[in-house]
Amino acid sequence: MTVLVLGGAGYIGSHAVDQLINQEYQVAVIDNLLTGHQEAIHSKARFYQGDIRDKEFVRSVFAQESIEGVIHFAASSIVGESVEDPLKYFNNNVSGTEIVLEVMHEFEVKSIVFSSTAATYGEPEDNPITEMTPTNPKNPYGESKLMMEKMMRWCDEAYGIKFVALRYFNVAGAKTDASIGEDHHPETHLIPIILEVALGQRDQLAIFGDDYNTEDGTCVRDYVHIEDLIDAHILAFEYLKAGNPSNIFNLGSNSGYSVKQMLEAAREVTGKEIPAEVAPRRAGDPSTLVAASDKAQKVLGWQPQYTDVKKIIETAWNWHANRPNGYQE
Ligand code: UDP
Repeated sequence: MTVLVLGGAGYIGSHAVDQLINQEYQVAVIDNLLTGHQEAIHSKARFYQGDIRDKEFVRSVFAQESIEGVIHFAASSIVGESVEDPLKYFNNNVSGTEIVLEVMHEFEVKSIVFSSTAATYGEPEDNPITEMTPTNPKNPYGESKLMMEKMMRWCDEAYGIKFVALRYFNVAGAKTDASIGEDHHPETHLIPIILEVALGQRDQLAIFGDDYNTEDGTCVRDYVHIEDLIDAHILAFEYLKAGNPSNIFNLGSNSGYSVKQMLEAAREVTGKEIPAEVAPRRAGDPSTLVAASDKAQKVLGWQPQYTDVKKIIETAWNWHANRPNGYQE
């Protein structure tokens, strides 16, 4: 039996494929390679290049493979872009998922684990955020993920397709041996941008606002290591296989770090000066997002290994320093 990974050539998907194969799962991958990298896909995975919105293509993969469940990472994920072009997000994320569910229903595949996001919560007043915190997305990206969750809920009721939605906080780092890592174009995330400054590829970090209501005035986020995050997906997959009900879990580290703290930690890890300057706030950034992930620990038995943010940055640094041009070389 095979696990089908949608978006297996992307940053998070490629780490999932790698960990699944290292744990002896049979893996098939679908990716349209619009943002992913073929080189990032483990050579032991069977790769099908195509788009999840192409129903005939998705059907052909389900017909060829004996699929026991799906792990779904195939989505657009840039918040700013989603505000400029919401229809791109409703098309790729929502319509794409709808096609996947139609084909799952047709082929009687009954479990799906998928990437949701802390952006479904919007700007909650209280932290840490639990799964009971009301959802109130502030951008089309978060809205599209919440719509995906809701679609899954009704498909569970009607067709018995069980799902686990994993609401990620800030995913960071790379595989410990630095063979795969994060490579986005354009890059918008804090840690890779800081490390590009450390490598001399950018002049300085722009700190987006230092007048937030936080200890040092910069935004606070909860950073979770990519390999810990994937562990939770595999546990969630097994949880569904064991016949458990659909569920939603936050995935974070339960601790918050400000932009300035992250910069300081990166300076220590890299030994580089990393110039930075305070810039205006970025539209739509909530001041603080910190997860309570106790539910995933309790119900799934998830045990994140990376509790020190410097260790997370170190794995990202090993990747970026080894592959300064990412997969392009
Ligand atoms: N950030 C920053 N400068 C940058 C990129 C990000 O100050 O060049 C800040 C951003 O405002 C946010 C935090 O770093 O408070 C994390 O941003 P990222 O885009 O990595 O993730 P997000 O929290 O938006 O999902």
